[in-house]
Amino acid sequence: MTGTMPHHLNLVDGEWVDGERRANHNPARPGEVVSEYALADRNTARAAIEAARRAQPGWARQPVAARMEILDRIGATLLRRTEELAVLLAREEGKLLAEARGEVVRAGQTFRYYAHQLLQPQGEVYSSTRPNVHAEVRRRPLGVVGIITPWNYPLAIPAWKVAPALAHGNTVVLKPAELVTASAGELARIVAESGTPPGVFNLVMGAGRVVGEELLTSTAVDGVSFTGGTGTGAHVARQCIAHGNKRFQLEMGGKNPLVVLDDADLEVAVRCALDGSFFSTGQRCTASSRLIVQANIHDRFVAALATAVSALRVGDPLDPRSDLGPVVSPEQLAQNLDYVRIGRDEGATVVAGGEHHPDEGQFMRPTLFTDARNTMRVAREEIFGPVSCVIRVNDLDEAIDVAGDTDFGLSAGIVTTSLSAAERFKRDASAGIVTVNLPTAGTELHLPFGGTGASNHGPREQGGYARDFYSVPVTCYTGW
Ligand code: NAD
Repeated sequence: MTGTMPHHLNLVDGEWVDGERRANHNPARPGEVVSEYALADRNTARAAIEAARRAQPGWARQPVAARMEILDRIGATLLRRTEELAVLLAREEGKLLAEARGEVVRAGQTFRYYAHQLLQPQGEVYSSTRPNVHAEVRRRPLGVVGIITPWNYPLAIPAWKVAPALAHGNTVVLKPAELVTASAGELARIVAESGTPPGVFNLVMGAGRVVGEELLTSTAVDGVSFTGGTGTGAHVARQCIAHGNKRFQLEMGGKNPLVVLDDADLEVAVRCALDGSFFSTGQRCTASSRLIVQANIHDRFVAALATAVSALRVGDPLDPRSDLGPVVSPEQLAQNLDYVRIGRDEGATVVAGGEHHPDEGQFMRPTLFTDARNTMRVAREEIFGPVSCVIRVNDLDEAIDVAGDTDFGLSAGIVTTSLSAAERFKRDASAGIVTVNLPTAGTELHLPFGGTGASNHGPREQGGYARDFYSVPVTCYTGW
C-alpha cells in the first residue's frame, strides 16, 4: 500500500524526513489503515533537537508581530480545516465526530489565543527599596522544549503546549503518542506551512523509550512538558533531573470524584455523571470514575443512571447516532475488561454494561458498578475507559473525605442545590479543578488546567499560567 496510502513524515529543520513505515488502524474497524507514519530513530531525534537549538535565538528575536502572525495563521488554518481534520481524528482515535470537531476548534482557538497573549504585559515593575534603582522582572524564553503527548487529545494537547511554547520564544520538538501520528502529522504540516522558520518546530514520531528518551536525556533540551500516565511521568521526572536538571512539567492521570448530595436535582446529577464518566469513551484524564452518592438519593440516582447508561448507543464515531465510540486500542480494551473482572471479584456489582460490545471493532459497553468501596482497586486505579463506580456515603463530610482519599487530584465535582455545600466543597476538595453542577470534565482554554498529588507536577498549563513553564523570570536592577 505504501505510496498510495496517506502518510506522515518527521519534520526536522524544515525538512520532511522518512523512516521505516508503520500503519495506524481505525479502532472502530481494525482492518482499516488510517495512515502510515515514518518511524523516527535516535539520530532523527538528535537532529531535531540540534535544529531546535540552532533556531531558538533567532526565533526569540523575531518581532512579536511576526510570531503573532504565524500563530494566528496556524489557528486560522486549523479552524478552516475543521471538518477534514475532525474526520481524521475520529477515524484515528475513535472520538465521536462531534467531539472531534470540538477538539479541532479548541486547537485552532488555542493558537489564536496565544497569538493575542503576546500583546499582554510580559513583565512587572517593582518599587526598589534603594534610591535611584529601577527594579523589574522580565521574562526570557526557556529555550528548547521537548513536548511529549498522549493519544486521547491528539490535537488539543499538542496545541495547548506548542502554542504557548512558540509564543514565548521557545523552539519545539514534539513527540506525539504512536497511536495518533496522523493528527500530529497534519498539525506539523500546518505549522510548517504557516511560516515558522526551519528548526523552530520539529516533529519526531516513534516509541517513547527511543525518541522520547532522547528528549529526556539530551542536555541540549532545556525543558520537557509531558502529559500521560503517572508511571511514565515519574520516569520523565527522574530522567530530567539526572540529565542536566532540566525543567519539567507533568500532567498525569486522575480518579476524579463526582459527589451527588441528597438535595441534588436528579436530572442534573444523572446528566453530569453520564457525560463525565462515559463521554469520549471515558478516555479523559478528567473523567468522573468515582460517583460518591449520599444515602437518600442513592437508589433513585443509580436506577436513573443505569437506565441512561444502558441506553447509550456504542458505535462508529462517524455515525451521528453513536453516543460512544470505540476504545482506542486492543490493549486498552483488554485492560478495561480486566478491571471489570477485578471489580466483580472485589465484590462490586455491575448494573450496566460490563462486556465487550459484539460488533466488530474495539467496542465496549459503558459499565457502571454499584456497591463499590473506596478501597477497591476499581476505585483507586485509573482505568481510562468507560467504567465508573458508585460509592455510597452518609453526609457531606464523609463525601469530602472519600473524594479526597485518592493518590490523584485532578478534578472533583459536586451536584447539590445547597450554596453552603458547594462553597465547602470548593474550599475543601483536594483537586486542581472543582466543578459544581457540571461534569468533572470540560475545561476552558483561558483558565489554568492541572491537578495536585499524583496528577501533576510543575506549573499549570493553559491560559496565562502557561507562561510560568515556558518562560524564565529574570529580576533586573538598574541603577541610575
Ligand atoms: P503514556 O504515559 O503511556 O504515554 C504518554 C507519552 O509518553 C507518549 O507519547 C509515549 O510514547 C511517551 N513515553 C512513553 N515512555 C516514554 C519514555 N520512556 N520516555 C519518554 N516518553 C515516553 O500515556 P498514554 O497511554 O498515551 O495516555 C493516557 C494517560 O495520559 C492517562 O493516564 C491519562 O490520565 C493521561 N492524561 C492526562 C492528562 C492531563 O492533562 N492530566 C490529559 C490527557 C491524558
